[in-house]
Amino acid sequence: MLSLVMLSIIVSLLSKVHVQMELLPYFCDFSKSFRLQNLQKDHRPLKIVRASHQYMYDNTNSEYIDCVNFVSHVGHCHPSVVRAAYLTNNLEAITPGWDIDWGEPTYPQQLRHTLPEYLDTFLFCNSGSEAVDLSLQLSQLYTGGTEAVVTDNAFHGSIDSVHHLSPKVFKTNNITKADWVHIIPMPDLYRGEHRREDPAAIDKYLAEAREVVQGARQAGKVACFISEPMLIIPGCIMPPSTWLQEVYKLVRESGGLCIADEVQTGLGRLGSHFWSFQAQEVNPDIVIIGKTIGNGYPMASVITSKEIAAVLGDRAKEYRCSQVMNAVGSVVLEGLRQEHLMETAASVGTFLLEELLKLQHKHEYIGDVRGRGLMVGMEVVWSRQSRKPAQEIAELIVNKMREEYVILANEGQERNILMVMPPMCFTQENAISLIQRLDKVLTELPKHRILKEEESSLLSYRILPGICEGRLGIIQPQKAGEEEDDSDGFQNSKNMDLEYRQSSYHDLD
Ligand code: PMP
Repeated sequence: MLSLVMLSIIVSLLSKVHVQMELLPYFCDFSKSFRLQNLQKDHRPLKIVRASHQYMYDNTNSEYIDCVNFVSHVGHCHPSVVRAAYLTNNLEAITPGWDIDWGEPTYPQQLRHTLPEYLDTFLFCNSGSEAVDLSLQLSQLYTGGTEAVVTDNAFHGSIDSVHHLSPKVFKTNNITKADWVHIIPMPDLYRGEHRREDPAAIDKYLAEAREVVQGARQAGKVACFISEPMLIIPGCIMPPSTWLQEVYKLVRESGGLCIADEVQTGLGRLGSHFWSFQAQEVNPDIVIIGKTIGNGYPMASVITSKEIAAVLGDRAKEYRCSQVMNAVGSVVLEGLRQEHLMETAASVGTFLLEELLKLQHKHEYIGDVRGRGLMVGMEVVWSRQSRKPAQEIAELIVNKMREEYVILANEGQERNILMVMPPMCFTQENAISLIQRLDKVLTELPKHRILKEEESSLLSYRILPGICEGRLGIIQPQKAGEEEDDSDGFQNSKNMDLEYRQSSYHDLD
C-alpha cells in the first residue's frame, strides 16, 4: 500500500517534470533530445540531443558554443548537480509543504554568507515566477498597500499575477495594464528619450519616476517597486547606480518595499559582485533568485528579513527548502567556488566586452555594446547615426552564427539586441571564437545584399513567426498548419516524455 502511495506521488512529480521539459537540457543527462525552439526560430529548429559545460550537441554530433543559456549556471549537465539531484530524489519524493523533519537544511546558511546580514530568511519555491508572486504577496501584506511600481519593458515571469508586473508581456499580448501597476521609464541612455549626450538625462528620468510614484500614491497605498538591478530583460540596459538608489528612496518614502529580481543577474554573473544589487549599492527588502540556483532544476528563492517574512505566519512552512533543493543548491554554490567561476565571469567578461567594443568600431550595424561580467548586449542598428533598430539584421546574425556553431539570441522590445549570457564556465577561447565568427558574419552581411535602404528585401530572410518570441519566454502558441516536422525520425517531446517515464518506472521495479 505504502509503495503504491509513493508511486502515485512520484507519478505526479514526473508529470510536473514533463511541464518543465524545456529545462532538462540545462540540467540533466536524461534530457535525450529536444527542439531548441526558443533559441532558433527559423524553419530548421536545432535538434539538440545532449549538452555539457558551455556546449550543446545536435543530432549530427556537431558542437555549438552556447552563449545564451544563463540558467545552466555552472555548466550544462554538471555531473555534481545531476548526481546530487539523483541521489536526493531517491530519498525524498515529498513536496516542501509537508511537515517532515529531515534536519536543518544547510543551503540557506551557505547562501547567507553571500548576502547582507539583514537578509536572513529564505523561502523556497519552484520557479522565478512563483517567487515574484510571493514577493508581491509579502509586500502587500507587510505594507498594507496595493500599488506596485515596475520598470518599463520588464519581464518577471509567466503566471497571472506576475504578468501584470511585466509590461513586456502585457504590451506584447495587448493585455490592458492593471490599475494597481505603475510603470516608470527605463533609463535607457542609448535609445530612450533622454540620452548619454544630455548631461541631465538621469535627472530627467528621475523626475519622470517621481511623477509615476506620486501617481501610485494617489491611486492607493504603495506596496512595492520591483525591478532587475540591471535591466537585462529589456536588452541589457545598465542603469547608473544613482538612478536605482534614488528610485529606491522615492518608493520607501511612499511606504513601499524594494524588490530586486536577480533571476538573470545574481549568483556571481557580474564577476565583481555576487549580486547585482551590491554593485548598484542598494539594499533591497526582498531578493528573488530563480532556476540558476539549481542549474536548471526547478527551484527559486525569496530572500528577505525575518520581520517581513513573519507576515506569512504559519504559511512560511510551505516554502521550506526541500532535501533536493538543499543538495542541488549547495553543489551549485560549491561548483561556483571550486571552479572559480566568478573570477572567470570577471576576466572573460571584461575581455569579451573590450573585444566587442572593437568590433563595434569596425561594423556599422553594431550601434552600442554594453554589459558587465558575463552579460553583454549589442544593439543592432541600420546605421550608427540613425540608431534605427534592425531586427531583421539581428535575426539574420543569430541564424548565421548558428551556422558557425555559436548560439546567440536577439532580445529587447525591438528584438534587435544580441545577448551573450552563457554558462559561467565560458572561457576566453570561447570568447575569441565568438568574436572571430561574429566578425566573419558581420563582414559577410553585405554579400547577402542586406543594404540599409533595402529593408524590405529582408523579408525573404524573415523567420517563421509564431514559434517563439525570444530566449526569455513569451512562447507563442504554434499556429495551425505549423506542425512540427518529425519526418526525419527526431523524437518529439511526447515520445520523449513517454520513454522517460517508462524507463523511470522500469528502474523502480
Ligand atoms: N524574472 C526574470 C528577470 C526572468 O528572466 C524570469 C524568467 N527567466 C523570471 C523572473 C521568471 O522565472 P521562471 O521562468 O523560473 O518562472
